[in-house]
Amino acid sequence: MASGGSPRKALVLFGPPGSGKGTQAKLLTQTLRYPHISTGDMLREHIKAGDSIGTKVRDLLKAGQLVPDEMVDEMVRERIDRPDCERGFILDGYPRTLQQAKTILDRFRERSIEPTVVYLKVDEDKLVGRLTNRRQCPQCGTLYNVLLKPPIVRGRCDMEGARLIVREDDREDVIRERFENYARQTQPVIAFLEKNAPFFAVEASEASPEQIFLQIGEFVRNGERR
Ligand code: ADP
Repeated sequence: MASGGSPRKALVLFGPPGSGKGTQAKLLTQTLRYPHISTGDMLREHIKAGDSIGTKVRDLLKAGQLVPDEMVDEMVRERIDRPDCERGFILDGYPRTLQQAKTILDRFRERSIEPTVVYLKVDEDKLVGRLTNRRQCPQCGTLYNVLLKPPIVRGRCDMEGARLIVREDDREDVIRERFENYARQTQPVIAFLEKNAPFFAVEASEASPEQIFLQIGEFVRNGERR
């Protein structure tokens, strides 16, 4: 049980690659003051560190394939038990398979954690464009889009001044592979989560990140009053 007696919250951000999970997580983490837990970022950190997890997953990420469930389950289990998750936390990119979804909902039940699932719905034809034009700051992780949200100075992060990079798995052939995996392994998770947790689908094709953020905020606040 969290300090102060209020239950711990888990905000689960769900959606296809490029749907804006990372952007929303960054906005939400500032207002809710919950840590942002991105399994993709954690895996990339392991790769950067060159440790044993990093060595095992490197080729899978590069090819746009999912890493084994046990590996991410264990990573997330260890992460959400840390003290900074005592009030709540934001999950981005997890769960991504039915098995992961079952595992995490069981874990939430055991620990009296109250989940809310937010599903970012985006037309698929928008997504490829978003990903191929995506650039990221290697230092702070801020995302840009060369067409829709360019940095002030071309190719440089507004905050860090670092040279922006294209993620290794944002190449067009790898993007295709990620979508295939999403359709096959991740899409079936939506129905399961909808049935088993408070669930909010937000139309995220046209609206700006700020508008989407406001809608999510409203849903989360209403949930707290339920
Ligand atoms: P995106 O949502 O845009 O695909 P992420 O940064 O969330 O990007 O994930 C990048 C990669 O990390 C995935 O393609 C996959 O290889 C791996 N990954 C991240 N989360 C998971 C997960 N929950 N289960 C299995 N693999 C994962």
